[in-house]
Amino acid sequence: MDFNIDPRIFISKPYIKCPKCEENNTYGVLSIHGHSYTRRCNMCWHTESYALPKLSKKIIYLDQFMISNMMKNVTPNNTNSDPNGEFYKTAFDKLSYLTKLQVIICPDSYMHYQESVVSSNYEYLKNMYKTLSNGIRFEHMDTIARFHLVSGFKKWLNMEDVIILSRDNVCNGYNDWQDRLRIDINMNMEIRDREYLAKSKNSLDSVLTGLFKYWQSINLFNFDEIYKKEMFSLSDLYINKYLDFFNKSLRMMAGDNNINIDEIIGNEQITIVTEMMDAINEDELDVVKKLMKIKEYLLCKDIAAIPHHRIACLMWAGIARKAAAGQKKMQNVSIVNDIKVISTYLPYCDSMFIDNECAKLLSDEPVNSRIGFDTKVFSLSSKNNFLSYLDDIKEEVTQEHLDLVVELYGDTWLKGEYYIPEEITTKANQ
Ligand SMILES: [Zn+2]
Repeated sequence: MDFNIDPRIFISKPYIKCPKCEENNTYGVLSIHGHSYTRRCNMCWHTESYALPKLSKKIIYLDQFMISNMMKNVTPNNTNSDPNGEFYKTAFDKLSYLTKLQVIICPDSYMHYQESVVSSNYEYLKNMYKTLSNGIRFEHMDTIARFHLVSGFKKWLNMEDVIILSRDNVCNGYNDWQDRLRIDINMNMEIRDREYLAKSKNSLDSVLTGLFKYWQSINLFNFDEIYKKEMFSLSDLYINKYLDFFNKSLRMMAGDNNINIDEIIGNEQITIVTEMMDAINEDELDVVKKLMKIKEYLLCKDIAAIPHHRIACLMWAGIARKAAAGQKKMQNVSIVNDIKVISTYLPYCDSMFIDNECAKLLSDEPVNSRIGFDTKVFSLSSKNNFLSYLDDIKEEVTQEHLDLVVELYGDTWLKGEYYIPEEITTKANQ
């Protein structure tokens, strides 16, 4: 059977007069790429590309609860009686408008995926975060953290490295002009990931409970003491993990078949230590001497220059302070993920919308003045400020930019409502 696809279907409105055949309303938009776009005439086939101005999109991180609540509240006929329902709807309208205007981007992350894939509303959650990210995704937290640590180590070795990545490295293509179509690649890994995630949640729970009990037992709480303890905790963790790996590798080479290699392959801590060892690049140094050097770094004050580590330790010390002050109930285990996400992505965001608890941890002193980045942090407690912040971004958009967006995407683009297919409407309300 032959398929005849009319290439004209790929040319979309808005149509203008063709510069070659001079036919009216025939010269449409074929595609929009990073910093240029292509028009094609559907009569004479004349095709030409045009440069687009450079963008400077603001990066906004939206916590999963925001994604999930916006998803529930934009669903037509939703039966939710959430007191913040109106806020979620308004916030979505504004975010979606500014995204289409190419002035903001709300990249999705592995954490959005991880927290959505276990939900029965996975497809609808994914649709929500992809709508606001245009498929732009933050680099994985572990990758960014590894880069920070290894670069910090190189810097300490006087190898003049920069610790902070460029925004383009963290969110590849975030400043590109968005193409009209979003192509999602389905990796079909959901089932495997769901099983894995269920297992890892339980092990986290017990570690955190133990830690919280210890903090509760502290009589004379000293913020800096706990902060430093957390700060220097990487040394034992990493070095011991590496020694374990080294030991197992030796035993395996000696013919021991009882070693489970899967436990150590791809382990993040081992990878970091290995990369640090490679960075030392002094052939005469043996493994032990190299490890001593790494340990010296992980226990020196320069480790506080590692942005995600500093922010995470500050937040943990803030939680410890609450426990020591008599907070009875332990934080939900999701706090581990929250802190990981916030500490890693905050340096690369213009603003973040996170839960009240985490926002409070960041605004309390001495955390706030030690974060070292001027990222704006919003939560439900400051929800009206968040909406004003979005309005201010809109205010700054020039008429010239607005005209260009209409010229590229058509005049209904910005007015378009969030499209939710019928079956999604039904399911999300269940
Ligand atoms: Zn033409």
